[in-house]
Amino acid sequence: MTLRTDYLIAGTGPSALIHYLNLQNSGKEAVLLGSGLYGQLKPVEYRQIGKPVNLLPIFPVTESNLWKRLNPNLKADNHLTLEKINLNGIRRPEYRLQACYYNYLLQHQQESDIPYILSYKQFGDLIFKHPLTELKKKLNRNYRSGQPKYLKTGFVNGLSPYYRFLKSREPYPVIPGMIEQIDYINKMVHTKKGAIRYNHLIYTLPLDYFFDTTGLKKTFELISGGARFLIYYTDEPLPENHLWYCCDIDSNIYRAFVPQKNLLVVQLSRKRWEKNPNEISTELQSITGIKEKFHHIDTTTYLHCYPLDVSCNIKKEELAGFLREHNVYLSGRFAEWRYIDLHEVDYDQILEKKQMVLHAQNL
Ligand SMILES: Cc1cc2nc3c(=O)[nH]c(=O)nc-3n(C[C@H](O)[C@H](O)[C@H](O)COP(=O)(O)OP(=O)(O)OC[C@H]3O[C@@H](n4cnc5c(N)ncnc54)[C@H](O)[C@@H]3O)c2cc1C
Repeated sequence: MTLRTDYLIAGTGPSALIHYLNLQNSGKEAVLLGSGLYGQLKPVEYRQIGKPVNLLPIFPVTESNLWKRLNPNLKADNHLTLEKINLNGIRRPEYRLQACYYNYLLQHQQESDIPYILSYKQFGDLIFKHPLTELKKKLNRNYRSGQPKYLKTGFVNGLSPYYRFLKSREPYPVIPGMIEQIDYINKMVHTKKGAIRYNHLIYTLPLDYFFDTTGLKKTFELISGGARFLIYYTDEPLPENHLWYCCDIDSNIYRAFVPQKNLLVVQLSRKRWEKNPNEISTELQSITGIKEKFHHIDTTTYLHCYPLDVSCNIKKEELAGFLREHNVYLSGRFAEWRYIDLHEVDYDQILEKKQMVLHAQNL
């Protein structure tokens, strides 16, 4: 069976859903293809909490167009309190690549100790080996001298306003399934259940998967970092929307965040992923000053969740340009391979770029 649609949106994460809503607003025909809904923003349910909670975002965010559309009553309790604790243990590396991220920090940050320790704890030795261009861009966009420019977080009762906004716009027309092949020349996508013909394809899935399904040759390498999160429950209420950054180079914990008063999300230091959660629990008591025991209830590991760099930016741009000529638009954190957060899910830009390309061709 072959379906037809004007816009096919591959993926069902925030980028995909926002594209859908914008197309729907402009009266365009669009369907989504993927499994589940909300991507990284999908809430989880723990028996101990008894209602869904989002574990992201844990990053201070600025206002976005989406933020402006939110219900103002729900925005009341959304300021993050941030604490940087236990600065300790600066150790400089013996060898580092001249153009690496670490050297960039030394040259561009007046106070480089904390940014160095935190980026080392988050990304490990990658900061001595690569320029990490996407990380640099993120630093410049979101931080001023190592401090976040904004302290908005948005969690209210454990749910992110981005999630609440997208959820309030349900239902979405989702064709369940995974892409097996993309024939971008004939504008067709194949799944196990059949084919879908499109005029425009908005692709929000990870870029690696795109090469696999189109057969296009990969002309650049993707450099990424991973993360491991331990989730803890405690009976004693914690300060909601509080974030601790642990600046001790030897501690197991990189940061800890309270999305809901009985829940603590802990991100481990890159080199401490294998630590026993009970050992971390003791460290948490000292960081938070809470005497009550922290019960470990879940662990989540993402191997490639931080897009940090590519081996050749020009080739990446060439690919995006080539695809736009075939009405294929890469969009979102993993398809564009940009280290963006939720407030930066840039939904209008790619269609504008397409208009610009067409305009340039007509000159
Ligand atoms: C560990 C981590 C921490 C983050 N922290 C924050 C934060 O603190 N604040 C913030 O604002 N944002 C944060 N983000 C980013 C936020 O999740 C993204 O900006 C947002 O999810 C982008 O939406 P997206 O639709 O582009 O990508 P996604 O939400 O990833 O969705 C993309 C689509 O790809 C699919 N997909 C993903 N992986 C695969 C795969 N391997 N194979 C097939 N399909 C796949 C998904 O199901 C989805 O349909 C974080 C992300 C991660 C992973």
